[in-house]
Order: sequence, then C-alpha cells, then structure tokens
Amino acid sequence: MGLFNRRKTVFVDSDILVIGGGMGGCGATYESRYWGRDLKIVCVEKANIERSGAVAQGLYAINCYMGMQWGENQPEDHVRYARNDLMGLVREDLGYDIARHVDSTVHKFEEWGLPMIRDPETGRYQREGKWQIMIHGESYKPIVAEAARKAATEIYNRIMITHLLMDSTKPNRVGGAVGFNVRTGDFYVFRAKAVIVAAGGASHIFKPRAVGEGMGRTWYAPWSSASAYALPIQVGAKMTQMENRIVLTRFKDGYGPVGAYFLHLHTYTENAYGENYEAYWRDSIEALVGDYVNHTPVPTCLRNHALLEEVKAGRGPIRMVTKEAFKDPHKETIGWENFLGMTIGQAVVWASQNIDPKEINPELTTSEPYVMGSHATCSGAWTSGPEDYAPADYQWGYNRMMTIDGLFGAGDTVGGTAHKFSSGSFTEGRIAAKAAVKYVNDMGKDQPQVSEAEYEDLKKTVYKPLETYRVGRNEIVGGSVSPSYILPIHGLQRLEKIMDEYCAGISSHYTTNEPLLTRGIELLTMLKEDLEHLGAEDLHQVQRSWELQHRVLASECVTQHTLFRKETRWPGYYYRADHAKLDDKDWHCFTLSSYDQKTGDWAMEKAPVHHIID
Ligand SMILES: Cc1cc2nc3c(=O)[nH]c(=O)nc-3n(C[C@H](O)[C@H](O)[C@H](O)COP(=O)(O)OP(=O)(O)OC[C@H]3O[C@@H](n4cnc5c(N)ncnc54)[C@H](O)[C@@H]3O)c2cc1C
Repeated sequence: MGLFNRRKTVFVDSDILVIGGGMGGCGATYESRYWGRDLKIVCVEKANIERSGAVAQGLYAINCYMGMQWGENQPEDHVRYARNDLMGLVREDLGYDIARHVDSTVHKFEEWGLPMIRDPETGRYQREGKWQIMIHGESYKPIVAEAARKAATEIYNRIMITHLLMDSTKPNRVGGAVGFNVRTGDFYVFRAKAVIVAAGGASHIFKPRAVGEGMGRTWYAPWSSASAYALPIQVGAKMTQMENRIVLTRFKDGYGPVGAYFLHLHTYTENAYGENYEAYWRDSIEALVGDYVNHTPVPTCLRNHALLEEVKAGRGPIRMVTKEAFKDPHKETIGWENFLGMTIGQAVVWASQNIDPKEINPELTTSEPYVMGSHATCSGAWTSGPEDYAPADYQWGYNRMMTIDGLFGAGDTVGGTAHKFSSGSFTEGRIAAKAAVKYVNDMGKDQPQVSEAEYEDLKKTVYKPLETYRVGRNEIVGGSVSPSYILPIHGLQRLEKIMDEYCAGISSHYTTNEPLLTRGIELLTMLKEDLEHLGAEDLHQVQRSWELQHRVLASECVTQHTLFRKETRWPGYYYRADHAKLDDKDWHCFTLSSYDQKTGDWAMEKAPVHHIID
C-alpha cells in the first residue's frame, strides 16, 4: 500500500475559489463578497495571507494611482504610458479597465488604515513620480489581508494548489482545484463553480546572479514559483506575451529599488569614468528600434540596453550618483527609509560592504530575468476584456475570464497589462471577482462536477515524490544523493542553467537565437522526463517538488514564445541575435500559446494589437 493512501482527503465546496492570497487574491476575495453576499467564497494560500506574496515585507510606494480627484492623470494617460513602455504592445482594454478603477482601491487602503504620506503644502498624496505615491507601507499586506479575511467565508492557509480540476460533464469548464497542506500533509479537493487564479509571478526560472550561499537573494520574491502560469497552462488555457520577461536595473547585490532615487531624490547614473553613457548609445538604439527611443519616458528596456552595452564596452561598473543628494539630510532620510520599508537587505549589504551613499556612489547592475504580469512587463493568461470597452475579438463572455470557462485571473496571472503593480493587481482581483460572481449567478443549476477518478489519480501524483524518495533512499551513495531520484534543488539548478544558457539569461548577456532555443526545448523536455523521478524526504520537499514542476512548465512556455517571436522587440530584456531588430511590420502583435497536456505539444498563434486610445 502506497504512502499516499494514508493521507486524509478534505473536501471543500464553494461558489468562488480564489487561488493565492496576495494582492490580486485579496482583491478578488474582498470584491466577491461585495457582489455575492450569499455566496461561499474560499481563498486558498500556500503561505499565510497575513504576510504572503510579493508585498510580504511591505512597500514604500503604491506605483499605480491616477489621482483623478485632483485632475492629476486620466486612465487614458496611463494606457499611453504602459503602451510606450512595452514598445507598443499592451491590451489597452484591460489596462484602461484597471486605470479607471484603481483610485477607488487606493482610497479603500487608506480607509482600512494604510498610512499615506501627504504633501504638506497641497494635502494631496505625496507623489514619488507621475504614477507613484508614497506610503508608510511596512504593514501594507496585513492591512489588505484583514479586508480579505473579513470578506471570505473561509481562508485556507498553508495549502499549495498543484492542479486545477476540470468539469467532467462539460468540456473546457473548470471545476475546482487540488492541493495539499504543507504542514499536515492532508490532501485537499476544492470543488468550485468559478476559480480565480492569483498566484503571483515567477522567480528562479533563470539562474540568479547570487548562487550558492547567496541563493534566494533575488529581486522578485523567491517563493513566487510560477503557479499563476502553470495551473492555467496545464488545463490548456491560452497564454500571451510569455517571452516578455523582465530584467531590472537595481542596486548591486541587494536588489534595492531605484525608482525613489531617480524620481524623488533626483539622482542619476554614470559610468566608471564619471560619464553620462545613456546619450552615447542613443543612435545605435535608434538603429535597432526606430523612433521608440525618442519617446518620453524612454522605455525601461531601452534604458537597460544602454547600461548593458556600456558594461560590455568595458566602461563599467555603472554607478548611481548619490553623493550629491545625500548631502541634503531630508533626502538622506528618504533614501534610507526607502529600503527600511521594503528592502532592508540592501541597507545591510551596503553596511557590510562599507558603502555610505553620502561618501560612495553605489553600483547598479541588471537582474536575472523574471516572468510576471504586473510590473513593467506583461506575461500571463489571455483573458476576455470588459464588456463596455473591449474590441469584439477580445471578448468571450466575462471580464478577466481565460479561454477556459469559469477560470479567471488577476495580478501577475493576467497577460497584456503591464504597470498595474500592487494597487492595480488588487483592482484587477476586484474586477475579476465581480465578473466571476455574475458567472456563478448565470450558471443556475448547471454546476460543474469533478470526477473522483481524476482527483484520486492526482492524489497519487502529488505525493509520488515521497514514495520515490522512500524507495530510492536505500541506494544513497553519499549525503542525500541516490541514483534513483532527483531532488528538487538539483532539478531547480538544472532548470536555471538551461534557461540561463539557452533562453537569454545573464551569462549570455540576455542573448539567444533559434538553434539555442531549439536545443533549450530539447533539454527542458529531458528535464521534464526526469521530474517523474523527483524525490522528497518530507512535506517541505513535496512543496519544492511542485514549485519546480510549475516553474519548468512555465519555462517551457517562455522558451516556446521566445522561439515564436522572430524579432528583438525589447532590447535590454532579451535579444534574438538572429532577428536583431524590432519588426513592427510582422510582429506588432501578441503571441499566444496553448499546451496540450496529453501530447506535450504547444500551439502558437498571433493575435492583433488593437489601439483603442490615440
Ligand atoms: C521586489 C518587488 C518590488 C515591488 N515594488 C512595488 C512597489 O513599490 N509598489 C507597488 O505598487 N508594487 C510593487 N511591486 C509589485 C507588486 O508587489 C505586485 O504587482 C503584486 O504583488 C502582484 O500581485 P499578485 O496577487 O499577482 O501576486 P502576489 O501578491 O505575489 O500574490 C501571489 C500569492 O499567491 C500565493 N501562491 C503562489 N503559488 C500558490 C499555489 N500554488 N497555491 C496557493 N497559493 C499560491 C503566494 O504565496 C502569494 O501569496 C513590487 C514587486 C516586487 C517583486
């Protein structure tokens, strides 16, 4: 008798199941209750919503706020901004939808107790930049989580969702999800009429700059393990723009954010010889991307590109000039507080490296790539748009519903909508929840059924790494190494190496081509075969096993998209050396993929980019 048979199965039925209790998930949970007073709303989270997700340790700024009450910006302005930053390719309908609602979300945060910083003269929220407002945000996540806790019927913490369940009576309709409690080991079957995936982005799919003893020090949260993508991909949902990974310019070794420094402290960068290098690269960038380099603000990827080229030319390191700004005691305080409220690690790194930014200009570097849908990049699921605004071919029923009936997304999960950040992700959760409630109400008695055979099979699959380890440990040859299994950490390092070397990571200066990508896909296929032999010595390692499975599937998707798009659309994020230039004639479009779990095949297609706003 297998070990898995001894595990208890817990059944949870709900109207709406929210997977992931981060910003998007808390927004979805909160709003589901508003529109669905009598519905059963369940939120399931692999950590604890109190401090989970990318906002866990707090933020110093809310990066998406229009300020419509003061006439500061209009939603159309934000769409233009995001479109420019993403080199022309965004879902304008989705972006507009978030922008028109995001201010009300921020006002709720303040009402719930989030301390906002106000301009002493105008009384308005203190702007850090055109879109950013400053907050005392150490407790941002607990405040948002409290609203979700009060709204939910039940919150299940410490349960990692591994697979979605499909309706056994109707094709292409979701029926729930399965997962396991990472502490007790109980198996959970969630049956739901609608499912909202809000499970964050993906770190650790590319080899990070910090390895070995520094492993885990990444820009994006190390626990963001690509479930937001893998769960929909597994069941065949269409994905978009998965090639559009993000590379961040950050303070070296601590990934401290640079936004407040540039925008609020008015610091600037220079090369090792004190020269302004950005202007130097302008003409060569224009040769690659045309007029996009003349846009204001210069798209994020192009600013990365100038930094990368300067370093390749041997004139690094690039430094942020802080010495001038830090002479002003007010700016010095802001500079340090910026880290203490959000990236304490950067302050510790500077202390340990004898860097006082008043005396020494600190180094900047570019990060390894990440995949996410809410920052200055827009990978994720292809979803239906708002009824009153989306063009006909972006609409198939309910707002933020994926190409699977009843399956919705928010935050990093949803593709095509960059620059939503924390407030926009919460807002998108609210938008998805409103539509999901309507979907559930419209459903009537025609409810999904899940097959017992399916979830029993999944139960065996989920705990298989424990079985594999129990058998394989008898053959341990040294330490924890056995010829009969692969440990999650080994699989992770193999994945990171493949993605780094073949799919444009740091070691190849973010450069790839068709032969490299083709070989990368072959190596990922072999890795997937070996994941059948994952071994887990305890529940923690079972969680690591499933995080790895999700990362590998998302990585495969990224690689397929990178192969499909035959151009270099975002120099500074990645380069297709065999198609070195931006090609608006053939590639001013979205890339879409869908995965067939039975055959392992990917189908790729293009979708038009509709420009709704002038
Ligand atoms: C380093 C960094 C700095 C940032 N700075 C800012 C800033 O200054 N201002 C700003 O406005 N925004 C900022 N952002 C962006 C903001 O944090 C994100 O946009 C936002 O958190 C995305 O929301 P989400 O719900 O998609 O993901 P998250 O908030 O990350 O939530 C995802 C949740 O899903 C859970 N989960 C994952 N997998 C599973 C699974 N399989 N089963 C169950 N649960 C699962 C996770 O534990 C997590 O709680 C920053 C992000 C990062 C990474």
